[in-house]
Amino acid sequence: MGEARANRRAHATVLNAYPWCIYCGGQNPATTVEHMPPRMMFLGKQRPKGLEFPTCNPCNHGTSHADLVASLLGRTFPDPQSQQGQNDVKKLLSAVSNNIPGLLQEMYVGKAGQKIARRSIPKMPVGAAVLRANGPLWRAT
Ligand SMILES: [Zn+2]
Repeated sequence: MGEARANRRAHATVLNAYPWCIYCGGQNPATTVEHMPPRMMFLGKQRPKGLEFPTCNPCNHGTSHADLVASLLGRTFPDPQSQQGQNDVKKLLSAVSNNIPGLLQEMYVGKAGQKIARRSIPKMPVGAAVLRANGPLWRAT
């Protein structure tokens, strides 16, 4: 069986077994399958199977930007050691930049801000940095 056909069959199994959107609290029928955590959160998108959930279309697609940002943050520290991990992070940076223009710039904290953060967070790991997570683009994600 081809992968696409296997995926369709797996999705149909989920939707048949659980016909209501998990996010809407059982108010809307599930029409799509949500992959949580998102595949891009895993090295080479090798997400374990069995983490598919029934959702309605608005709920499933309403989280795509948040999934992207969460994946980026989850994959950037510590620095990926493998070439695949580094490539994945580059793709995530590009995807965030393309899909949420200006967010990376909004999150950037300059040298002075990093210095202040290091004084405020005494156990901050070596090599870590702070990001701004309170701007308008961040809140809209
Ligand atoms: Zn829903």
